[in-house]
Amino acid sequence: MHELAITQAMIGLVNEHADKAGAKKVGRINLVVGEMSGFVDRCMQFYFDQMSAGTIMEGAELTFKMVPTTGRCRDCGREFEIAEMDWTCPGCSSNSIQLVGGNELFIESIEVD
Ligand SMILES: [Zn+2]
Repeated sequence: MHELAITQAMIGLVNEHADKAGAKKVGRINLVVGEMSGFVDRCMQFYFDQMSAGTIMEGAELTFKMVPTTGRCRDCGREFEIAEMDWTCPGCSSNSIQLVGGNELFIESIEVD
C-alpha cells in the first residue's frame, strides 16, 4: 500500500499549502516524481479521489512531471541518465555511482481558487 501512504502524506501537505494561501478550493496539484520512486500515477489519482472526498481538494486533478534516474560518478564527477539500470559511468567506466535524481516525490505547486 505504498501509494496509499504517499497519498495520505500528500493530502496533508496540500492542506498546509492551501491553508497558508487561504484557498477555498484546490484545482490542480503538480507533482514531481522520480522514475525510481516506484510510484504509479494511476493508483495515486484513484486513492486521491477517494481520500479527498469532502475536502477542499475534492475533484482536483493531479499532474505528474517525471524525473529520469540520474547518477553522478564518484571518480570523474560526470552526471548522466541511467538507462535500463546500467550503473556504469559513460566517461570512465567506473561503477562507483551515486544516485542524484530519480527518487523524488514532492509537490511542485498547487493551483487554487
Ligand atoms: Zn566516471
